[in-house]
Amino acid sequence: MTSTATKLLDRFLDRTPTSARLAQRARQCLPAGIAHDSRFQGPYPIYIEHAAGSRKWDVDGHEYVDYSGGHGALLLGHNHPAVVRAVSEQLARGTHFGSCHELEVRWAEQIVELVPSAHRVRFTSSGTEATLLALRLARAFTGRSKIVRFAGHFHGWHDHMAFGVTSHFDGTPTPGVLPGVAEEVRLVPAGDPAAVAEALSPGDVAAVIIEPTGGSWGQIPFRSGFLADLRELTAAAGVVLIFDEVISGFRCSPGGAQAHYGITPDLTTLAKIVAGGLPGGAIAGRSEILDQLDAAACQRTGREKVPHQGTFNANPLSAAAGVATLEIVAAGHACRQANDYAARLRSGLSEVLQRNRSSWVVYGTFSGFHIFTNPQRLPLAAEAIESGAVDYRTLKDVRRELVGNLKLAMLVHGVDLFSWPGGPTSAAHTDDDLARTVAAFESSLACLGEQGLL
Ligand code: PLP
Repeated sequence: MTSTATKLLDRFLDRTPTSARLAQRARQCLPAGIAHDSRFQGPYPIYIEHAAGSRKWDVDGHEYVDYSGGHGALLLGHNHPAVVRAVSEQLARGTHFGSCHELEVRWAEQIVELVPSAHRVRFTSSGTEATLLALRLARAFTGRSKIVRFAGHFHGWHDHMAFGVTSHFDGTPTPGVLPGVAEEVRLVPAGDPAAVAEALSPGDVAAVIIEPTGGSWGQIPFRSGFLADLRELTAAAGVVLIFDEVISGFRCSPGGAQAHYGITPDLTTLAKIVAGGLPGGAIAGRSEILDQLDAAACQRTGREKVPHQGTFNANPLSAAAGVATLEIVAAGHACRQANDYAARLRSGLSEVLQRNRSSWVVYGTFSGFHIFTNPQRLPLAAEAIESGAVDYRTLKDVRRELVGNLKLAMLVHGVDLFSWPGGPTSAAHTDDDLARTVAAFESSLACLGEQGLL
């Protein structure tokens, strides 16, 4: 580390002695001291004591504008009163009945009302479980084995999804993933219907899965019209089209990206907002596909039932939080507020970059913003990226040290960015948050520039 780099580091260390102590303890028992790869932060992460609305406070008493947003689960912000009330009331009634309960029925009804593709719903405990089940159902339904995925698209951490997201774009497996599993996946670039047609042509593909607002939470947009192409190509080939709306569901619009774009997939995977900030996920879609989980329906159709269990599926606390959240989402204003805030934030941050003649680019759609640190200093505009004209390899070219220093500088200036770097915005973000974030970005750039870290 250079002596200039240590100035930023010293400021961080001075502010966060309690986090430092916790991190030291954490490293004795948690690999890398963390519970999720994206929470890694050098020299150590901040530890949060409490949160409210758009803000959170660390164990050393510092306040942050929060853009981790519960990894995108908190469209309504932290501790929304309606969600807190619903969960508290449910807590007193019981956390797990090991039985069916009314809230799970209401929860599923809301999903069916809001999400165009949802005729049936099966709850899971996470988005990873939802995409895992989606692949199983698609394979059982079609009797085929191959899966088409798009380079740079994230669908959770199970074996079929654990490569081609931030590395291994050649489709080779990451450590611990069986080569045989990776061989069942065809990775193609998003936005290219000819590549999809070629991947489907052998007739052995069960499903195509996509993040419908672009790979990795919209970090890699694709050209408009591609979802319609996909719908057409998969329908013609009898392939199950899966929209992974774990992040975009109930965020882009109350009915997710599919309602916004007017394109209906066969299956939709959901998590995050669907469970109102508690653990939970769901798979929704066509009855014939979901009814493979129904023994009686399988008897009628002569299919073998697809097994699926899960101790915490439709957990009453998650159901309570989900129902309370979706009631608010259904009204529409929460999505609009978060989208509007993100648009204003993107333009505020872009103005900072222009003033500083920086080659970085701030871009995004709906309620997301991305800061591309543009290591090759390419002449790129936000519009070009958003239109899908920029290759995923370029946008995934993230220099970890620079991003780590940016995140550190923003923390020192009172803003917690998500690891992209960037973040999801929420309906709880205010004009004051916006002003603070833009000012923090300006100061952080100056700090990084002065210390020779850009
Ligand atoms: N799919 C997408 C698009 C996601 O963004 C995520 C999580 O960020 C997942 C799947 C995995 O969800 P979970 O973290 O709940 O397993």
